[in-house]
Amino acid sequence: MTILNGKEIADEVLAECREKVGILQSRGVTPGLAVVIVGDDPASHVYVNSKVKTCGELGIHSRKIELPTETTQEEVLQVVRDLNEDPAIHGILVQSPPPPHINEEEIIRLLDPRKDVDGFHPVNAGKLVMEDESGFVPCTPQGCIHLLEKAGIETSGANAVVIGRSMIVGKPMALLLMGKGVNATVTVAHSRTRDLAAVCRQADILVAAIGKPGFVTADFVKDGAVVIDVGINRVEDSSKKRGFRLVGDVAYDEVSPRCHAITPVPGGVGPMTIAFLMSNTVKAAGG
Ligand code: NDP
Repeated sequence: MTILNGKEIADEVLAECREKVGILQSRGVTPGLAVVIVGDDPASHVYVNSKVKTCGELGIHSRKIELPTETTQEEVLQVVRDLNEDPAIHGILVQSPPPPHINEEEIIRLLDPRKDVDGFHPVNAGKLVMEDESGFVPCTPQGCIHLLEKAGIETSGANAVVIGRSMIVGKPMALLLMGKGVNATVTVAHSRTRDLAAVCRQADILVAAIGKPGFVTADFVKDGAVVIDVGINRVEDSSKKRGFRLVGDVAYDEVSPRCHAITPVPGGVGPMTIAFLMSNTVKAAGG
């Protein structure tokens, strides 16, 4: 069984980004990423801070825009309009989830698609469907595909099952897996799927993007499968200083012995997501 080390592979992606940033800077361009966060969700602040920190390590200019919970929809839209026009900013992301009174979809639609480094704007979603490489692909599924490639996993003709159909992970993941070059045969499962464990047992490659700790148990997994655990869930743990630990959607201890390869949580898909955010930002700046 191989543990797919996302941290190590992400570091390689980041090294490539650093090199491209250097080339851009020699041409007088410093890539700039604006991160907008509304409200005080603690996990979102952790993600935003780690994105900003990684920008700093690569020489990418970052601007963190923190807005209080009571910020109105119109105020957020105005921030995005200003960033769309700002020549120092090549990439914009609005951290999810915003407070409930904020309409996230309207904000995404307002983003300049050329600055939409999360790849959520309908133009970029359309380009992904059309396999038009000029668009931005959502960072997490892009990272998962890169992990599979780097680990030398044979995807062509493989049966892949994706659990989850979100716009952020499940849907783009399925599109990438079925794309030319990857060539998997893809099943997308969700909360209405009948006999989910039996569906998953067909998978040579199983991707879990559900948001439920330890949901995928050993009976979901056939011997020799490759399991990609996208889930990041906080579970209470009084033995930890911060009072919780992070676990995936896969019951790692019982599933891993069955696998040919598996991603751990943390240290699997998570680092890949940030690496491809940086990669998309460099691309947005022309790198
Ligand atoms: P969503 O809540 O948007 O989607 C969850 C999906 O899981 C839905 O399609 C839902 O089905 C499906 N689902 C829920 N319950 C079941 C069930 N009992 N059986 C089968 N399917 C089910 O979550 P996201 O896609 O945004 O995120 C998924 C996980 O990935 C979360 O843990 C999140 O924290 C993590 N994540 C990790 C990232 C990383 O960098 N590693 C980045 C982004 C997310 P239905 O559509 O029918 O409701």
